[in-house]
Amino acid sequence: VEYTTDVIVIGGGGAGLAAAVSAHQNGAAVMVVEKMPRLGGNTIISGSAYNAVDPKRQSAQGIEDSIEKHIKQTYEGGDKQGNLALIETLVENAYPAIEWLESLGMEFKEDIFTVLGGLWPRAHKPVKPLGTGFISTYENYINENEGVTVLLDTEITELIVDNNRVVGVKGKGLEGEVIINANNGVIIATGGFGANIAMRDQYNTNWPSLTNIKTTNHPGATGDGLTLAEKIGASLVGLENIQLLPMGDPETGSLSGNIEQGVENRIFVNKDGNRFVDEGERRDVMTKALMEQKDAAMWVIVDKNSYPTGETKNNFNESIDELVSQNRAFKADTLEDLAKQIGVNPDNFVKAVKEFNEAVDGTPDKFGRTLFDKKIDTAPFYAGARVPTVHHTMGGIEINTSAQVLDKDGNIIHGLYAAGEVTGGIHGANRLGGNALADITVYGKIAGESAAAKK
Ligand code: ADP
Repeated sequence: VEYTTDVIVIGGGGAGLAAAVSAHQNGAAVMVVEKMPRLGGNTIISGSAYNAVDPKRQSAQGIEDSIEKHIKQTYEGGDKQGNLALIETLVENAYPAIEWLESLGMEFKEDIFTVLGGLWPRAHKPVKPLGTGFISTYENYINENEGVTVLLDTEITELIVDNNRVVGVKGKGLEGEVIINANNGVIIATGGFGANIAMRDQYNTNWPSLTNIKTTNHPGATGDGLTLAEKIGASLVGLENIQLLPMGDPETGSLSGNIEQGVENRIFVNKDGNRFVDEGERRDVMTKALMEQKDAAMWVIVDKNSYPTGETKNNFNESIDELVSQNRAFKADTLEDLAKQIGVNPDNFVKAVKEFNEAVDGTPDKFGRTLFDKKIDTAPFYAGARVPTVHHTMGGIEINTSAQVLDKDGNIIHGLYAAGEVTGGIHGANRLGGNALADITVYGKIAGESAAAKK
């Protein structure tokens, strides 16, 4: 089959759908091509924390923040390897993009929190669980407006170039070959390569072998966009920067079952029952510390403050009672009993919690932790097991602040745009928790605008 449209979007995750809606709002007919049987990608299964300096919600909670601080933390948190111009565009447009999502009907909670590895309380949480709020908002727009077509089960395998301009794509759908011509251009929004073990192994230089580490990613996160773009001369940057989290489910690597509710009110202990790291640190720092512990495994510890009732849900829409009944979390009325259930030394464990509580009261923490809220002192106490897991690939296609793809000499490749996890050079060596949702929304929206304008 052969189609013609204005703008083609490859990939129907958060970046691709933001791009599709924005291109359409700017007057383009759009075709979204998704290789999986449904839309959503990694975005729909993400924890969905969204960082933005918020003039309303943060001050209501007495949180001081600034655009400058968010830029500085993003740049320094990525070991100064990110491109400052891209970071500035991300940070300055993060809150306007929340307002854009709200204008499309999406709802965010009022509470601002610090997400794991986010380093500061500026994370927003959608009202709907996981990333479903983002995807359903875009789907509603697509269903209510004519001019955005979605092709599922269709994998793009080639970019068509004519006269130094990207003018279409080729791929295969359930019925065979598909060719799509684009009057304006093509947006690559295919996500990262966290689920492609061969590609991970090829580029990994910062970690011990990742061959046997599981991932939080959906199976479609195979880095296809990198291959498509590289074939026509695009510049790829920072591919060695692969992000792991210390928060994987031991069986699946997924984030589900994670019992933490924000950074301030939980600690990590190793199999000896000892704390081993500042739990408010960067993601790479915490994961490296975890890899040095026995069996590279740990327990997340919280108390009733995180789960006022058994029906209280975690960030993945699972109630704590449900997790306990499945033996994915453990519950006890005393710290000693919890230690016994999870098989750690009770003396170490009780001492670790006692010292943490003293740090909440102002004694300097021996791991340098500074993010605190409440003590862990109210039964019931809970523990959940976690291991390292591959989460995000910071490297990818080099773009400018208009989301135009650059070649190896820094020239614009006409008709080609990219947004989301497939791009590189924004987050440097380490992405702050909560910056990905902002990134994919901001740059997805920009890519749509640029492609609609045939920039
Ligand atoms: P982002 O957060 O950057 O939007 P996601 O992982 O949420 O990334 O979405 C990327 C989407 O792109 C996924 O749904 C994935 O299945 C899709 N995708 C990946 N490769 C291809 C391809 N070759 N053709 C079509 N869709 C693809």
